[in-house]
Amino acid sequence: LAKRFKGLEKNIWYEFQVLHQLYLHPVTHNAVNLGQGFIDYLPPQYVIDFYRQCIDDSNILLYQYTRGFGHRRLVDAIAQVYSKYFFRELDPLNQILVTSGAYPSLFNAINGLVNPGDEVILIEPFFDCYEPMVKATGGIARCIALKPKSNSTNEKTSSSADWILDENELESMFNKKTKAIIVNSPNNPLGKACLITANFTIYFALFCQVFTQQELEKIAGLCQKHNVYCISDEVYEWIVYPGHKHIRIATLPNMWERTLTIGSAGKTFSSTGFKIGWTIGPEKLIRACQIVHQNCVYTNPTMSQEVVARCFEHELKRLNSPDCYFNSISNELLEKRDRIVQVLKECGMKPIVPDGGYFILADWTKFNNAQFHSDNEESKDFKFVKYLTKEKHLATIPASGFYTKDHIPMADKYIRFCFAKKDETIEKAIKILKNL
Ligand code: PMP
Ligand code: GLN
Repeated sequence: LAKRFKGLEKNIWYEFQVLHQLYLHPVTHNAVNLGQGFIDYLPPQYVIDFYRQCIDDSNILLYQYTRGFGHRRLVDAIAQVYSKYFFRELDPLNQILVTSGAYPSLFNAINGLVNPGDEVILIEPFFDCYEPMVKATGGIARCIALKPKSNSTNEKTSSSADWILDENELESMFNKKTKAIIVNSPNNPLGKACLITANFTIYFALFCQVFTQQELEKIAGLCQKHNVYCISDEVYEWIVYPGHKHIRIATLPNMWERTLTIGSAGKTFSSTGFKIGWTIGPEKLIRACQIVHQNCVYTNPTMSQEVVARCFEHELKRLNSPDCYFNSISNELLEKRDRIVQVLKECGMKPIVPDGGYFILADWTKFNNAQFHSDNEESKDFKFVKYLTKEKHLATIPASGFYTKDHIPMADKYIRFCFAKKDETIEKAIKILKNL
């Protein structure tokens, strides 16, 4: 193994996938998977119809390589949709790069910008791949953890908004070596989202502590002061719960020039199997990503890109309608979120209700006992999650997988549930939870 990958051998998705194969057979175990983030029901009907149409078209070109930096029809569609959300005319050929999912978008951005010895600021909890990607470039991950408001963790339920970014601590992380900061909003796994309500003044008066426009402006201000890039992972951009609105950090004053925004068709169209993602940003930064991409992947599957293009074209015609999937997906998930919150409370866990995304963290320590005590090998949340998988056939993910080693004590009383599941799955999970 090349030196730069030494120390990166462990991966929670791989580890738990192996465990799930052993203990989660749907028939023999009657198992329930609330672990990995994917929906277990069909995506919108038009996704299926467009797949069919693409096959029926028998277009020879769809079976061959397409434009390396993004299938022409797809970059055009992305440009048309996102020009409306970035409040600028996007250039489909130079300001958008299509990749095989948000993973490679992150990889291209980090590898395209970060030199060995550069520092990259990560906000914990973070999607687990950020840290290994930074380390593999020779970069140094500097991590700042969101802190729960005092008392909030003692409550029966709390909100992702109770987890606060300490502005002074954040400021102290920026220095001459800082090259980039990665922001993930709505956040996986916490569900903390950058939000505003219709009435700004009331919002700041009531919620001045949450991950607000004000907090994003603080990040933006520091990026400008220290000449730092922002990599904004917005794969859950459409999943924000009522009363809130997603803010794109690239749309804040003077941020376009230094921000790469990443999206995913897997999340946008509830079809993680698409494995199509995109990066949007200024030509100079996209060029850096393109150079990484052209030298490893070169091009992405044509058929998937054609289908995603048609999906975007379909939604483009109804962006302002409540029927647009970008507007309706949150309602669909809201009921599921509320159901799982209610049951977690009933069974004695303390959920942190997310403002966005489709994951929920819950304090499980009511069930803690000697068999779950941490040792050198493993933290207690990993032990509890393995117990739930092996003995109860319910898959979840340990929260400490989203933290660096030093911060595991902040995380190991939580486990993550994915609630983007059909009602039948959620009801099965509830049965297990009620009998813990
Ligand atoms: N970022 C976050 C925050 C994620 O949760 C995921 C997982 N979907 C990704 C990136 C990777 O997305 P994709 O499946 O499009 O590679
Ligand atoms: N993003 C999804 C999650 O957080 C899936 C990640 C993965 O399987 N690598 O669950």
